[in-house]
Amino acid sequence: MSEVLNKNYIDGIWQEASAGAVFKDVNPAINSDVIGNFPESGVEDVDDAVRAARKAFRTWSRMPAPARGDILRRIGDLLTERKSELAFQMTREMGKPFFETKGDVQEAIDTAYYAATETRRLFGHTVPSEMPNKFNMSLRRPIGVCGIITAWNFPVAVPTWKMFPAIAAGNTVVFKPSEDAPHSGALLVKVFEDAGVPPGVVNLVQGSATAGRALVEHPDVNAVSFTGSTETGSKIGEACGRLHKRFSLEMGGKNPMIVLADADLDLVIDGLLWGAFGTTGQRCTATSRLIVHEDVHDALVDKLKEAASKLKLGYGNEDDTEMGPVINQKALDKIEKYIGIGKDEGATVALGGKRAEGPGTEDGFFFEPTIFTNVTPNMRVAKEEIFGPVLSVLKISSYEEAVKVANNIEYGLSSAIYTQDVATAFKAMHDIEAGITYVNGPTIGAEAHMPFGGVKGTGNGHREGGWEVFEFYTETKTVYVDYSGKLQKAQIDNVDD
Ligand code: NAD
Repeated sequence: MSEVLNKNYIDGIWQEASAGAVFKDVNPAINSDVIGNFPESGVEDVDDAVRAARKAFRTWSRMPAPARGDILRRIGDLLTERKSELAFQMTREMGKPFFETKGDVQEAIDTAYYAATETRRLFGHTVPSEMPNKFNMSLRRPIGVCGIITAWNFPVAVPTWKMFPAIAAGNTVVFKPSEDAPHSGALLVKVFEDAGVPPGVVNLVQGSATAGRALVEHPDVNAVSFTGSTETGSKIGEACGRLHKRFSLEMGGKNPMIVLADADLDLVIDGLLWGAFGTTGQRCTATSRLIVHEDVHDALVDKLKEAASKLKLGYGNEDDTEMGPVINQKALDKIEKYIGIGKDEGATVALGGKRAEGPGTEDGFFFEPTIFTNVTPNMRVAKEEIFGPVLSVLKISSYEEAVKVANNIEYGLSSAIYTQDVATAFKAMHDIEAGITYVNGPTIGAEAHMPFGGVKGTGNGHREGGWEVFEFYTETKTVYVDYSGKLQKAQIDNVDD
């Protein structure tokens, strides 16, 4: 697996993009380490991939679902065998430390085995008819060709949240990974190939927005599943609406952690270090707003500053690294811009606020763990997604105020509350406007068999993960079987007016 898989994979064949254009993929921690040049695919490549997926759909959709499950189990086995090699390459490509990329692969493994079991449970309903000698039922059927477009920050887990249930349900897919994580995407597709997924069932098209747009707009793509920014998701949603396609959008977040006066502050610190600075703050579920009670505000901020300033930055494939780089120059520039915005708005930089300069960071996109204090609810640094290691701290004086501040944003992905009081915790589960709420844990930590997704500006109502994602990848067929031997007219023959 040491060769760089820098090709598209269409109809079971690894191949260059038809126009021969490429883009460069570099290690964000060591920019002089070039991973390779990857195909910048265009409309023609997407068209070839969709045609292959359409052809494969005929046989794949007719295979008994449990037989598809057997292949998914083999995929899970192969991912388990390759876990460390994959994680090493993912860290090299997108920067998060090796222990995190191993977790990313583990999530894919869990998702594979979970999807395999669901192939024996693609339940429909049998329901009594209102007429005698008539049988009513609903069945689940695959949709067709699914376009899968993903971000770079979970380069293996997130694509598998989509592709595993899609193929388990009998669909075929065309996958366009992020241009910031093409190699991880290719290594994942190699696992499908090696596990015996037939040609055309899973196709890979590398590239950027051009390839993504072509996939969304392609008339023979029946459903689109997207994970990425709200800005891109909105464009995809508009196109899919116009083209009458089913679409699932998983987008940005600005996730609050509420800390009440009775919270266990040591537990909170552990949660904050992981929630705000894990993956260098580049998770859709990152803890980016700390909403803390005034009685414990100062003590908590002091402890946090001390703990966060000790985080070891560096290349994630080195043993002692706790926080990696951000993904690229554009991300670094965006974070710097928001530091300026926060300062102009009157927030205080209590820690960090600048590019990192220490040993091991000279050749990469490193930014110091940053804490803004004196943040008020309507500041941009309290409301907009920065997608970096930046935590905004807001002071509140009651539970009610905390909820109001938590809900004062357009996003609604994840949330957390730290309190010892069980009644308050239960109230928060209902009061916080988010798709996910953690009690006494940070805003990150999804498990593969649970529904995942957001409300408000984060999503469009679908869920990934768990049993709910199978709703997205199947369509319901309603079937009536009349064995009465005569014409029975529902709503007419059985009603006496
Ligand atoms: P992005 O929106 O820039 O890109 C995401 C993907 O969309 C990439 O593959 C890109 O090539 C493609 N794309 C770009 N323009 C397109 C277009 N017009 N049509 C079709 N495809 C297009 O996002 P990013 O910077 O890669 O990722 C960061 C964002 O992803 C953050 O906002 C983060 O919160 C979000 N995210 C959300 C979740 C979630 O589950 N909610 C998970 C991970 C990341």
